[in-house]
Amino acid sequence: MSGILYVVGTPIGNLGDITARQLEILAAVDIIAAEDTRVTRKLLSHFDIHTPLTSYHEHSTQTVRDGLLARLAAGESMAVVSDAGMPCISDPGAKLILQAQQMQIPIQVVPGPSAAISALAISGQDTGRFCFEGFLSVTKKQRYSHLQALQHETRTMIFYEAPHKLKNTLQDMLQTFGDRSISICRELTKLHEEVCKTTLSEAVAYYETNTPRGEYVLVIAGEPPLAVTDEMSLEDALVLVRAHMEQGLRTADACREAAAQTGFSKRELYQAILKQE
Ligand code: SAM
Repeated sequence: MSGILYVVGTPIGNLGDITARQLEILAAVDIIAAEDTRVTRKLLSHFDIHTPLTSYHEHSTQTVRDGLLARLAAGESMAVVSDAGMPCISDPGAKLILQAQQMQIPIQVVPGPSAAISALAISGQDTGRFCFEGFLSVTKKQRYSHLQALQHETRTMIFYEAPHKLKNTLQDMLQTFGDRSISICRELTKLHEEVCKTTLSEAVAYYETNTPRGEYVLVIAGEPPLAVTDEMSLEDALVLVRAHMEQGLRTADACREAAAQTGFSKRELYQAILKQE
């Protein structure tokens, strides 16, 4: 009978976030397939766990996967882990799981934190409907088309970003999305955890003079979910202004965005919204 493949989450910073079940499974399995064995060995040592490790990462070949699947098929139990957070979420694991599924190998999840969901929860953005966009591509063309495809996305969007690319990414986002509300979530669960809810233009200005440090998740408001039609009334346009304000824009900026979307002048919208307040 096949052994079980466990998909095990690990802390995204604070080791206190490890769970009793993660420790139990990591100690009990025959082998742990780890993205970086040095990183996982440190985690295991901290908890006095001595399970053998083998390397399984983004560039692992089909031959390596076949070897792991053969061990599972022969009855060994295995945990797959990444350096931090949930495997398979912008991390290795998905191909192994797909192929194990196809071989009818039993798979169980041992959940832990994911930076994406942790950031969303603390972002102060709309959590009702969201999409996870992972990392933007490094190539300019692919980055551009990824962002363009999201221009009219109405759900809250979650991105991962490396610190050295943050400044350019924020500029590209401002250019594509306009001045939306953004929550910049940094170093979650660590000593310097920080969540800054601001606007894209303010974020761009801030990082002109400040160097990004640490790990970042960007949580960005979607486009206000209103159909803009030729017959839009002033009242409809004001609903749009309020939606922008709820997403964190100042009244004047919200009026400017809504003016661009509706054809009403910024001044007209501004005066009308002030009358209503
Ligand atoms: N699989 C992981 C998960 O479930 O969160 C994500 C792995 S991905 C390779 C690493 C990226 O996740 C980082 O570049 C950063 O964008 C984000 N990240 C991971 N840990 C984080 C933390 N403690 N605070 C903020 N972002 C984090």
